[in-house]
Amino acid sequence: MNLNERVAVVTGAAQGIGRACALVLAEAGADVAVADLNMEKMEAVAKEIEAAGRRAMVLSVDVSSAESVKAGFGKVLETWKKIDILVNNAGIVRDNLILRMKDEDWDTVLRVNLDGAYHCIKEVLSGMVRQRYGRIINISSVVARAGNAGQANYIASKAGLIGLTKAVASEVARKNVTVNAVAPGFIATSMTEKLPEEVRQKLLAVIPAGRMGTDMDIAYGVRFLASEEAGYITGQVLDINGGMYMA
Ligand code: NAP
Repeated sequence: MNLNERVAVVTGAAQGIGRACALVLAEAGADVAVADLNMEKMEAVAKEIEAAGRRAMVLSVDVSSAESVKAGFGKVLETWKKIDILVNNAGIVRDNLILRMKDEDWDTVLRVNLDGAYHCIKEVLSGMVRQRYGRIINISSVVARAGNAGQANYIASKAGLIGLTKAVASEVARKNVTVNAVAPGFIATSMTEKLPEEVRQKLLAVIPAGRMGTDMDIAYGVRFLASEEAGYITGQVLDINGGMYMA
């Protein structure tokens, strides 16, 4: 799975799953732009990409803002002339039961997780169609597949991403642009480290693999979907969850 000459943009790549995706794509040969909010952490990831022998670019982008995405992605197009791979990974949680959920928390999660992917897709898609090559990978979640109490905003956004994936995949399949989703299970990152020990133990008990996933478990799936070899796979959801949910 050689990604030489490919240009990738990974959102939310300052840490966690996004950082792992950026590094794995770079190791496979791609030049990688990392788009996130925290410049300092992104600079560190950029150094790691360069250490792998690839070009790196750091983009201060808030994916929930169309203007911010346009400005950041514009820098990549101006400098590297194309975008071949987009990983829509930026995501947040604001968990609560629906009866207690604040409108603001509903809105914020939808704006980042779902609108964010929409804005990024809009910025890259015409170029991918023109060059007859593109790989878009949207990071969804196991809870969008299985449901879960206390996450209506998050699950609506992540299930929305699966719908978006299928719709856009249908529109651009003839142009050699694939659009797929990856649905991670319970992955050890800063997003899950805040969970109370009791919840963590309950989750571990329902994972047949008997362990939490790692950011690399997800990144390897993303690398596959980003490859030339995955060209006939589109509109799919790749579940990477240690057996926690079997479709
Ligand atoms: P993470 O460590 O919190 O990383 C998410 C990154 O996205 C952070 O660097 C965050 O920046 C950034 N981000 C947040 N809002 C943004 C915005 N508006 N614009 C640009 N960047 C933004 O989380 P993770 O666990 O690696 O999760 C990555 C993705 O996988 C998310 O979409 C998440 O929903 C999904 N996922 C995770 C798990 C899991 O178990 N960890 C399971 C299923 C799905 P700040 O830190 O500055 O906010």
